[in-house]
Amino acid sequence: AERVKLKDKDKTRNITERTDKKAYEEAQKRLKMAEDDQNNMKREAEKLEDLEAEIHDDEYLFHTDELTERERKELEYKRNLRDLAKDYKKAGAKEQDERKNRYYMPEEKRNKGPGAGGASHGAGRRAGPLGGGEAEDGLPQLRGQEEREQGMRLEQEKYQLILEEDEMIDFVSTAITMKGTRTEEEEEAIALSQAEMKKQSMQEVRRSLPIFPYREDLLAAIQEHQILVIEGETGSGKTTQIPQYLLEHGYTQGGMKIGCTQPRRVAAMSVAARVAQEMSVKLGNEVGYSIRFEDCTSERTILKYMTDGMLLREFLTEPDLASYSVVIIDEAHERTLHTDILFGLIKDIARFRPDLKVLVASATLDTERFSCFFDDAPVFRIPGRRFPVDIFYTKAPEADYLEACVVSVLQIHVTQPPGDCLVFLTGQEEIEACCELLQERCRRLGSKIAELLVLPIYANLPSDMQAKIFNPPRLEPASSLCNYILGVVVVATNIAETSLTIDGIIYVIDPGFCKQKSYNARTGMESLIVTPCSRASANQRAGRAGRVAAGKCFRLYTAWAFKHEMEESTVPEIQRTNLGNVVLLLKSLGINDLIHFDFMDPPPHETLVLALEQLYALGALNHLGELTKLGRRMAELPVDPMLSKMILASEQYKCSEEVLTIAAMLSVNNSIFYRPKDKVVHADNARQNFVVPGGDHLVLLNVYTQWLESDYSTQWCYENFIQFRSMRRARDVRDQLEGLMDRIEVEVSVTAGYFYHTARLSKGGYKTVKHQQTVYVHPNSCLFEEQPRWLIYHELVFTTKEFMRQVIEIDSSWLLEVAPHYYKSKE
Ligand code: ADP
Ligand code: MG
Repeated sequence: AERVKLKDKDKTRNITERTDKKAYEEAQKRLKMAEDDQNNMKREAEKLEDLEAEIHDDEYLFHTDELTERERKELEYKRNLRDLAKDYKKAGAKEQDERKNRYYMPEEKRNKGPGAGGASHGAGRRAGPLGGGEAEDGLPQLRGQEEREQGMRLEQEKYQLILEEDEMIDFVSTAITMKGTRTEEEEEAIALSQAEMKKQSMQEVRRSLPIFPYREDLLAAIQEHQILVIEGETGSGKTTQIPQYLLEHGYTQGGMKIGCTQPRRVAAMSVAARVAQEMSVKLGNEVGYSIRFEDCTSERTILKYMTDGMLLREFLTEPDLASYSVVIIDEAHERTLHTDILFGLIKDIARFRPDLKVLVASATLDTERFSCFFDDAPVFRIPGRRFPVDIFYTKAPEADYLEACVVSVLQIHVTQPPGDCLVFLTGQEEIEACCELLQERCRRLGSKIAELLVLPIYANLPSDMQAKIFNPPRLEPASSLCNYILGVVVVATNIAETSLTIDGIIYVIDPGFCKQKSYNARTGMESLIVTPCSRASANQRAGRAGRVAAGKCFRLYTAWAFKHEMEESTVPEIQRTNLGNVVLLLKSLGINDLIHFDFMDPPPHETLVLALEQLYALGALNHLGELTKLGRRMAELPVDPMLSKMILASEQYKCSEEVLTIAAMLSVNNSIFYRPKDKVVHADNARQNFVVPGGDHLVLLNVYTQWLESDYSTQWCYENFIQFRSMRRARDVRDQLEGLMDRIEVEVSVTAGYFYHTARLSKGGYKTVKHQQTVYVHPNSCLFEEQPRWLIYHELVFTTKEFMRQVIEIDSSWLLEVAPHYYKSKE
């Protein structure tokens, strides 16, 4: 039957343009009529099942992507019609309910005063109008609160039929307002200029940022001090402007680079893109970014944004960061593991590189501590400019914060003046679920509410989607359906807390959670858990609402919880994570004494010990705690020690191809299989088809192999409910790991054969290890300029001098590994 249907559909596809158009117009007409006329609506409601069937066929037979524009619109109209019809049916039922409610509602509940916020029919949870309520702990009420409530109550009544009453959330204001730092006139002027912002040129926008008036002072301070701590409100222009100022001031002369680290991949990519745009250059040329498994830089790159982890890796190849004139450790307050390690390393190299400028940039948090750590480096404060933000708490704890977010968004959308909204959730899954729920509710509410554009942002989101956050397409009302203003809701992870500034946000919804790594040093268990965020985080989040105008922050927890259940600030990552990776890296940088490493906050002793133990067990360290050859090779691979050991061990078992694939797939593991809500059965069947005996690793391998056999086909992914994007990423990761493997492989193999031909850098040239003969790198060699400490040469030739031809850099420790008999005796 399915086949027949498909055929029918094919036929339909071939029908003339005219008929096609007719179907579209027909759907449009039906919708219009239904909207206008209750009788028609009733008819549609009675035929709801037929309508559902029609829609189901359309959805089932074709992926939405395959539909023509017109077919898609037709389907859209049908869906709208269905939703209207559904609502119509439900409204009938609700009317009955409401009459009942109203009848039974005790009078006093209605007039319980502003504190209870019971506006009209205060049954159940929905009591307070947003922003209503009395000062919780006896603080004086805000001026104008009464009127505000009055206004809101009216609003609320207007909308009470739209949202299910018992679904709404009760918020109270504690009359606590985050103070703004602008004068009222200033606020007005800025609010005006914000409206004009769109029309401004990019250069004008740059000049309007809070940091701009301090450009010269800042440059002078940098000139004067080697290390400078820079503190400024999020959005003041630290990340995007400072590197440009430095560049304009000549810090990149002579081929030097400016580096700027970010704790998050998304931020590194996004700000680099923004700055490239501001400078009118192509991303990857003068301005580029580098994140793990993705290098978007070139020979020409002088302004490099990168994750903190990447800069750490650069120490492996350039221990003094010689090619940088300035290093900016941005978002220092995040205190990620890598940032903390960078602090120690950079403080160290700054001592013998007096020409290197170090800037430590942070939101308005903790700057005294940074200054203290960097030997009392001066702090440069960029005065904050922020509008006041009213803070609201829920009256009672919310059991399901995801649901509470959805409800709050809608509540704000229908009861508050227009403005964009930012929701903080903990990760991709939650964000996707929230977006889906929101979209579904909006669809159901249909034309009753203004259209709402929902935009997700999280680390794995493709960059074109990320770009939308900064330039949301503000649609013209497309049909008679949406004659309201369109609101934008951005649903984000912590990234929007300080790393990314999204303009135009007026409302912030903060459930008060974040995903945090936690580590049990005794068991070695590392896990990501959703935990309450810190008060410092919560305040940063709230601050996001006050950038363009006075804003509001709705906290989905009680004022009591804020005071008593939240930590003051977030514990630095170094104190709650596995240190295996970092210890390996530090060891390969020649830092052996980790106990005395200059940590800003040292990790717990047992965590360090456990990391050493693990590395020893993996064979990366010997019993003296020194790096082995294996350890050095492991450090070269940008993955966790266990994964790198797995990859390297595979050579021995002759299964590198397979293991590389598995490693790559593991690195994108959670996003391989696609399971859309409306096609769960199909998706699960498809997944089942990949199952092979043995376990999930082999399933991943199987998926990849089949994809490879399909010639990396997009279509294949589509048909098998596999996410193409993730597969493409796995392929990239695999290629890179393979490339790295090859390099290490080759170098070590060469060493194994040619350890007799070793030369060591010494005064005026190289000395061969065998005969202490002075030799030189041949000018044709690619290493002619580099002069690495240890070399292996293929042959010696004498022309004008004694030259080594075909040389390769090695690590002296390999010699001991590949030829202990030979080198031991030399010692
Ligand atoms: P800070 O680092 O001090 O938090 P940024 O330099 O990141 O501030 O941001 C300064 C301004 O640049 C922001 O207010 C925003 O208007 C703009 N901006 C930053 N990134 C982007 C982007 N990717 N797209 C558009 N505008 C951006
Ligand atoms: Mg920044």
